[in-house]
Amino acid sequence: MIQTQLYIDGQWQSPIDQGTRAILSPADESVIAQAAEATRADARLAIAAARKAFDGPWRQTTIRDRARLLNKIAELIDRDAEKLAHLESLNTGKTLTESRTDMGDIAATFRYFAGLVASESGAVNEAPHHVISRTLREPVGVCGLITPWNYPLLQAAWKIAPALGAGNTVVIKPSNLTPLTTHHFTQLVAELDLPPGVFNLVTGGAEVGAELAESLDVDLVSFTGGAYAGESIMKAATGNFKRIGLELGGKNPNIVFADADLDAAVDYALNAAFFHAGQVCSAGSRLMIEDSIYDAFISRLAERLPRIVIGNGFHGETQMGPVQSAQQHEKILGMVQAGIAEGARLVHGGKRPAGDVFKKGYWLEPTLLADVTADMKIAKEEIFGPVITAERFRSEEEVLRAANDTPYGLAGAVWTRDLDKANRMSRGLRFGTVWVNDYHPYFPEAPWGGYKASGIGRELARVGLDEYTELKHSYINLAPKAMGWFGA
Ligand code: NAD
Repeated sequence: MIQTQLYIDGQWQSPIDQGTRAILSPADESVIAQAAEATRADARLAIAAARKAFDGPWRQTTIRDRARLLNKIAELIDRDAEKLAHLESLNTGKTLTESRTDMGDIAATFRYFAGLVASESGAVNEAPHHVISRTLREPVGVCGLITPWNYPLLQAAWKIAPALGAGNTVVIKPSNLTPLTTHHFTQLVAELDLPPGVFNLVTGGAEVGAELAESLDVDLVSFTGGAYAGESIMKAATGNFKRIGLELGGKNPNIVFADADLDAAVDYALNAAFFHAGQVCSAGSRLMIEDSIYDAFISRLAERLPRIVIGNGFHGETQMGPVQSAQQHEKILGMVQAGIAEGARLVHGGKRPAGDVFKKGYWLEPTLLADVTADMKIAKEEIFGPVITAERFRSEEEVLRAANDTPYGLAGAVWTRDLDKANRMSRGLRFGTVWVNDYHPYFPEAPWGGYKASGIGRELARVGLDEYTELKHSYINLAPKAMGWFGA
């Protein structure tokens, strides 16, 4: 049985009140680990350690030191990639193939930020000859990093790499449903010769996250999760006007025009919605299909859905695993029922798959709800499960208006062979990422984040490093002389 601990001030330790939490396998509900469950008191210790470390010798590290650190972490991730992928699949239910891909992306993220950090050099500004004026980027300070359960280590990497790379100290709090890979990652960091307090792990629930958001000793909070928690973090952050980064939910349109490559569009419609059982913030669950191809498109999907192989993520043939928790399972089934009650037509799924192996665990069939209209709850709210809702549209203007008519603005896609239309739609959609004739690709060089209620700030890319820095204007007068402004 795996047992996890907290890592505070360079020491592995149990929570002050010895709290633990059973971690369940989403595939069969068996207990796979006992995780340390911290309280606010533990979070305060971690914050104090990070504060002390930031105000100590860590400030003297060079960009070369920190780039080397990120590259070393990437090497350790490569070394333990199989172990990490196994833990991620065990804890989230996603297929091993997906988890292996995550680990490759995580190592790439650390290497990307290592390169970026190494290229940082500030700027010398034009100024009078007796003045040296420089624009410098400095670390923000103590960073509280709060991550969700769907991409536990990937989301952590997007925050940890730029935070450490920019010279900050870190307290990370993974979701208390999925702490295992962040715990193993911390074991890797503990192998390195970092000053105590630079990197701290506090596993626990909302109260630990709230402590990070409220603490006056935390300078920046970066959060990935739902809008509800995001709102309370934003309010809590006003205590010391700390920096915030919020990566929240989405209601992401996948728009198919009649002139698209329909073979590709059908195939990607499945990937957009059912990858990681739809538990992806950018999942293309809101399928919008042009009227003239609507019925044929639905028929083609209906034929594909029963062929999706549901099963344990460790089995080679599995294409879709379970959802992560009992709570998610119940919520998704509730949303499907609400959709049917509002008039949507259930084409496939909407229930637990048949068979003994699916009696325990949080299993759901891939689900297709057709004839959805833009005013229905299922067209507006994030489902975060393996559900496609399909809407019909008749014109470019209509679909653009309907797709934008959501509080969210994370990601979306457009399928068409008409480049002019593709460009118009890309510009018209108010989303942080718009794919044309593709779905889901992201990489460290491109920014990730949302418009509107999908969040504040961006991760990845140069902007993802800048979020963890303060800008300073350093002005040095080399030959000061009395000014005489107020006379002699
Ligand atoms: P969640 O909001 O319930 O929890 C996220 C994290 O915040 C967890 O670590 C949780 O313990 C903590 N938390 C909960 N309440 C808190 C509070 N009041 N103060 C501080 N911390 C608190 O989200 P979740 O259910 O774990 O994740 C699913 C959500 O995350 C979905 O809405 C999804 O769209 C979103 N998400 C967004 C992105 C993105 O890049 N935009 C990526 C992945 C997931």
